[in-house]
Amino acid sequence: MSTNPVGKTRNAGVVILLGIITFGIYFIVWYYKINNEVKLHDTNQQFSPGLATFALFIPIANFVTYYNTANRIKLMQKVHSSQDLISPVIAFLLLFLFYIGYPIYIQGALNNHWHEHAQTGSKMIGDTQAEDNTEL
Ligand SMILES: [Zn+2]
Repeated sequence: MSTNPVGKTRNAGVVILLGIITFGIYFIVWYYKINNEVKLHDTNQQFSPGLATFALFIPIANFVTYYNTANRIKLMQKVHSSQDLISPVIAFLLLFLFYIGYPIYIQGALNNHWHEHAQTGSKMIGDTQAEDNTEL
């Protein structure tokens, strides 16, 4: 399990800043990326990161996908015996109480999980993939 690729560690403040600068577009990109990272990392979970992201644009379904994303992270943490488990309910409540708390909470949990794997030397995925190619 620990040989599965881990996602990219991101500064949640940068995620929010880029989200604001791009009028929310980066936030959607981020949402797709983190879902894709979870899918690639926890291969037990079968879902479509594209559909999860598309659901952001559909009333009510957007609430479901926000919750499900947090829940998928929790499942991933459980499967990999992570020390801290996130609460999908807290993630969901953050959307209403303090919107940017959601990416802070979610990305923070992911960063911790990727860090836990860093010690095992898991391969990186995501943005660094192209740069990792050995072709010149
Ligand atoms: Zn893991």
